[in-house]
Amino acid sequence: MSLRLANPRNAAAGTLKMQDSAIVAKRKLEAFLYFLYGEDLPFKTHWESLQAVKSWGFRVNDAARQCKDLEEVKDFINKWEHERHNLNFEIDGIVIKVNSYQHQRNLGFTAKSPRWAIAYKYKAETASTTLLDIEYQVGRTGAITPVAKLQPVALAGTTVRNASLHNADQIEKIGLRIGDTVFVEKGGEIIPKIVGVDLARRPENTAPVQYATHCPECGTDLVRNEGEAKHFCPNEDGCPPQIKGKIEHFAARKAMDIEGLGSETVELLYNNGLIKSIADIYDLTKEQVVQLDRMADKSAQNLIDGIASSKQIPFERVMFALGHTLCW
Ligand SMILES: [Zn+2]
Repeated sequence: MSLRLANPRNAAAGTLKMQDSAIVAKRKLEAFLYFLYGEDLPFKTHWESLQAVKSWGFRVNDAARQCKDLEEVKDFINKWEHERHNLNFEIDGIVIKVNSYQHQRNLGFTAKSPRWAIAYKYKAETASTTLLDIEYQVGRTGAITPVAKLQPVALAGTTVRNASLHNADQIEKIGLRIGDTVFVEKGGEIIPKIVGVDLARRPENTAPVQYATHCPECGTDLVRNEGEAKHFCPNEDGCPPQIKGKIEHFAARKAMDIEGLGSETVELLYNNGLIKSIADIYDLTKEQVVQLDRMADKSAQNLIDGIASSKQIPFERVMFALGHTLCW
């Protein structure tokens, strides 16, 4: 089975960090080798070393080429400007390296990088589409994130429906109006961003976007602290995503480590009115839990057992678990 992941770099990094090597093996990670490190290597050039690496059975990118001069380098860049879309992995640019090890040694390094290698980044792809609406999402800390709802448009191999807008300042800076034709750009990020407005196509009778004044989840007046970019919903104890966020943080592995109390279960328990605060977790009974949809007898028992054993967690971890909810 082949999966197209929204962010392969995160998926690969996350997989490598996993404790269970059996799961890591199942993910079938693959890698190209781009460089051979070692002292007194029996090669004179980078190219030779890559051929050796290949002969030892490692994967080396077949697209790599030796170029004789800058003209050939430019041709290579231009060729992949278009052909990169036919690769079955994503690239955002190419790296040009000096081939001779002797020349590499002569050139040396700056404080940050080698003088014999440089990255050429392709321009991020853009598309234009219509801004249909702006929705406001409430994070687990109460931070409000505006999200642009777009007329679906094809961009860099995916269909884009949403774009991130970060905060009120950014919306003002771009001067957005609902109905505007906007330019959307997709770099290495998962969510594309709006980089500009096509003013020539602005519909008549539109007005600049007025930022939300109330929390979309609980209706509380939003606040914005001096010097902060984001608006917040201050209703910490009554705003659903914030309450659920606190409970999830409390139950997380680094905190109380309550087996079986992940985000889906918190959602389920909260939506059914069984937990409204952290304290309610400790009043849950198996009879209550097992009545819920998608809760088999075994998972209900595991949850109750997980809650019971969390009572043994050392005090400093309890403090950490509650840390999210306290202000000091
Ligand atoms: Zn709220």
